[in-house]
Amino acid sequence: MTQNKLINRVVIAGGGTAGWMAAATIAATIGKRLNITLVESDDIPTVGVGEATVPSLLTIHQLLKIREADFLKAVNGTYKLGIMFENWKRLDHKYFHSFGKSGTSCWAAGFHHFWLRAKEQKMAKSFSEYSLETLAAEKGRFAHTKNQSLNYAYHLDSAKYGQFLRGIAEKHSVTRIEGKIDKVDIDKQSGHIKSILLESGQIVEGDLFIDCTGFRSLLLGQALGVGYNDWSDTLPANAAYAVQTKSHRPAVPYTRSIALDAGWRWQIPLQHRVGNGVVFSTNFKSEESALDDLLRGIDGEPITDPRLIRFTTGQRKEFWHKNCVSIGLSSGFLEPLESTSIHLIQQAIVWLISLFPNEGIDQNLVNRFNQQMAVETETIRDFIVLHYHLQERDDHEFWRYLREIKVSDRLQQILDLFKNNGTIIEEQDDLFAENSWVQVMLGQGLTPKQYHPIVDMMSDRDLNMFMRQQEFNIQKQLTSLPPHTQFIQHFMSHA
Ligand code: FAD
Repeated sequence: MTQNKLINRVVIAGGGTAGWMAAATIAATIGKRLNITLVESDDIPTVGVGEATVPSLLTIHQLLKIREADFLKAVNGTYKLGIMFENWKRLDHKYFHSFGKSGTSCWAAGFHHFWLRAKEQKMAKSFSEYSLETLAAEKGRFAHTKNQSLNYAYHLDSAKYGQFLRGIAEKHSVTRIEGKIDKVDIDKQSGHIKSILLESGQIVEGDLFIDCTGFRSLLLGQALGVGYNDWSDTLPANAAYAVQTKSHRPAVPYTRSIALDAGWRWQIPLQHRVGNGVVFSTNFKSEESALDDLLRGIDGEPITDPRLIRFTTGQRKEFWHKNCVSIGLSSGFLEPLESTSIHLIQQAIVWLISLFPNEGIDQNLVNRFNQQMAVETETIRDFIVLHYHLQERDDHEFWRYLREIKVSDRLQQILDLFKNNGTIIEEQDDLFAENSWVQVMLGQGLTPKQYHPIVDMMSDRDLNMFMRQQEFNIQKQLTSLPPHTQFIQHFMSHA
């Protein structure tokens, strides 16, 4: 069924990362015929702690024709080659989830199959020794070079990033209205939003509304009453404390995720400061104890007051309902373990653009969008749950509880296939590809019982040579990389 009304006026409610990214991207791609307005309130702060990203951000930057050097300068950005998980499998253990590929694969079997046999025969080093991104991260090195390209994402100052995106949006004629949204006017017959009313009395009318009002979900959740699927049973974290500290050592090109007695803490290095936070569940840890963990874990002078943020993990039952699409925190939240929120924002924007209801709201477009967003979010949820489910920590009820949680059928299938055959199920559009699943499953302590039979086509000698060659190639590339912070300074001043 189509609600036959040309979509000309797009109203974006909220100006956090979600709002400004939506405004900039829609305006830059299909904005010519549209009239785009963004409403935000200076009195309601943005969440402002989304500081680590995944490599897909580069795609949206290409779309927006953003020059990397300009972006790094504007957001005090650093490069991110992956995440160091410390104490996650057990205390005093760490592993790296890199964005790169480990070793060379063949058409039938990933590199980890070759590594498994080589390890059995004592010809292999640890799995991470075959990933350039991991070794570069550990050595604090980074570069864009002609011979190889590292797979990377960024760390960024999210408040500055919002302003940077705002600049792009305004260049593409997006109108900003400052004001507090007081009421949402809904057409009784169609159930569509007609307008939003600001406290100032101003009425902002639209054909399509994008709810980017953060956890409040003023339009989709509150006004249209779209419910929420609460995932607290499998992802029980419901609060975070965040604080920023002065940098007093060169920024490393990776995020640190350090598991605590009940919860975990992050460290995200920018050029000038470090973002720190503790993620915890109030069912297992008091706010006082979490604050204590936060302040004990920082290694620089705090430059902000610690901030408590509460949330409920889960997603809206629909992301798009009637003429309202929710993007960002208004549509749901997964805890920031794998830095996936900004990715979900850009994914929603890209899908909204590709399914744009030009001639009016078509329920088929709405259904397609909702289905894609739900699958994407659930897949990422499973990847996050994986870290909690596969671990050997026995020192706190939090970890014992999480080890026993019932995981989704899809995740169980992934675990069983890997355990029994070393096989990974990979869909074409999955954010986390084979190498991510392998690194995290091995890192959290799950080793396959067998490797693929194609590996046995190699003689011992050939396998040995193959493994040495892999190592040699990586070491050679590694030595050509300069220190990460040196590269950033050079790149920003010469690009
Ligand atoms: P917000 O930032 O909350 O923005 C909401 C906007 O709505 C604001 O502009 C506000 O003024 C406006 N608004 C609200 N009510 C009204 C009203 N009545 N009238 C007018 N305007 C209104 N993501 C990552 O990708 N990587 C990370 O490392 C990461 N870490 C995180 C850590 C924590 C603890 C949390 C909670 C989140 C983290 N995120 C992370 C998520 C990330 O912060 C958000 O996805 C991102 O900032 C987008 O937020 P938003 O724009 O949806 O909402």
